Amino acid sequence: MAADTMLRFVATPQSYPDKRPAELRAEDFREIADRYAIPSAEEQAGRCSQCGVPYCTVHCPLHNHIPDWLRLTAEGRLREAYELSNATSSMPEICGRICPQDRLCEGNCVIEFSGHGAVTIGSVEKFITDTAWEKGWIEPLVPGPARGQSIGVIGAGPAGLTAAEYLRKYGYEVHVYDRHDRAGGLLTYGIPGFKLEKHVVTRRVDRLKEGGIVFHEGFAVGEDTRFAELRQRHDAVLIATGVYKAREIDVRGNEASGVIAALDYLTASNRKSFGDAVPDFDSGSLDADGKNVVVIGGGDTAMDCVRTAIRQGAKSVRCLYRRDRANMPGSQREVAHAEEEGAEFVWLSAPHSFVGEEAVSSVRANRMRLGAPDASGRRAPEVDPGGPIDMPADMVIKALGFDAEELPHLWDAPELGVTRWGTVLVDNKTLMTSLDGVFAAGDIVRGASLVVWAIRDGRDVAASMHKYLKAKAAADTKVAA
Ligand code: FAD
Repeated sequence: MAADTMLRFVATPQSYPDKRPAELRAEDFREIADRYAIPSAEEQAGRCSQCGVPYCTVHCPLHNHIPDWLRLTAEGRLREAYELSNATSSMPEICGRICPQDRLCEGNCVIEFSGHGAVTIGSVEKFITDTAWEKGWIEPLVPGPARGQSIGVIGAGPAGLTAAEYLRKYGYEVHVYDRHDRAGGLLTYGIPGFKLEKHVVTRRVDRLKEGGIVFHEGFAVGEDTRFAELRQRHDAVLIATGVYKAREIDVRGNEASGVIAALDYLTASNRKSFGDAVPDFDSGSLDADGKNVVVIGGGDTAMDCVRTAIRQGAKSVRCLYRRDRANMPGSQREVAHAEEEGAEFVWLSAPHSFVGEEAVSSVRANRMRLGAPDASGRRAPEVDPGGPIDMPADMVIKALGFDAEELPHLWDAPELGVTRWGTVLVDNKTLMTSLDGVFAAGDIVRGASLVVWAIRDGRDVAASMHKYLKAKAAADTKVAA
């Protein structure tokens, strides 16, 4: 049966779901792609070559059973496809939308290498799980038999939410603390709606709430309670706080008004999408409408800023990146989307100074060229003597990446071990920190990474915490006897 429906990659060309026309999608914050209809999802799934060693699975941090759920989709067995895809991922429809598939599963698809174009794995994954939500196939979260132990999870991003879900299934009482007023971490307040509509995140969080996980939103550990108190309150604690210290740039004019941080900008825009009052947006400081915008950086955050500014009605949007297109860290797909929507990329350029009396009015940039490879093997950018370039700018958005906050200091916990980058040190096998019963997962351990890795870490740390708590319960019982 499989041979009839699969291996169709020669007869069936690769086809992604249609994108809405660029000029229309630049007018709103809705996702840019349509969804597959059932026949085309099945046809596209049937292009999978079912290879003996599925490199897509190998290169997926969750090791999703991709060829198997593609086959089930091609055979029209959508519910089974969903169940299999859900078996390894707590948020398949979110990964389907925002994973950089061109670097992970699709980038390693065997038929991509044979010149036929990868199977459109991400779009099929999104289709399967969105269908499952619509058909009511998504089961409620049912907690296991109560174990009488409780866990505190600090951070409601994908790492914390995934761990919370698995731990609740094991039967623990789970409390999730987040300093934001809504759960989801960067899924809610970082990533814009045109990549991930907010109702997709909210329905996941609601399912966890209905499953008995207790959320303490607007609760900042280190401010609303001491970290030490939280440890007293719970049998084990998970730190899943992500990385939020924005990297800075040392150029003249950096303090001028109109020079802003990427995450402040994106958070304000996401809050507006929820209908919140955002004074700094309403006053115009964080609104790009009618402005000449220059974004500095070449990662996903920079791409998101560029495309948000276009949607807010900026007069012009330029993105400066010090290396060239081939050497940027962000997804090539996102660059293509931004270009279609009207952004201009000024490759091989880096800011020299932000010019203006009080408020920024232009950016002076150095032209750059790529020199010899540095210690990491990447060719290091250096200033090209060709002379500077000037461009108008009423708003400059700095998107240079993020480092970890200084948790031992902020939480009055000097005994919490961290690396020289400030990320939390964990034992590679147990994912426990230097503190007994305190675990860590996601970006706060890896440094700025990807949603799919946060989910993987959440899954792994839940299994490790379960093991630790079972051993603790057994030891307590022995002492009591
Ligand atoms: P986070 O999602 O950062 O969640 C951490 C949570 O901890 C936050 O809600 C925060 O409020 C909370 N917190 C922090 N400190 C405290 C405290 N003291 N007390 C209580 N709560 C606290 N990845 C992709 O795979 N695809 C993309 O397209 C993509 N786009 C991105 C776009 C942007 C703009 C950014 C910034 C990142 C993007 N990423 C993307 C990366 C991805 O979002 C992160 O790797 C992922 O969210 C990390 O998950 P996490 O759970 O570790 O942390």
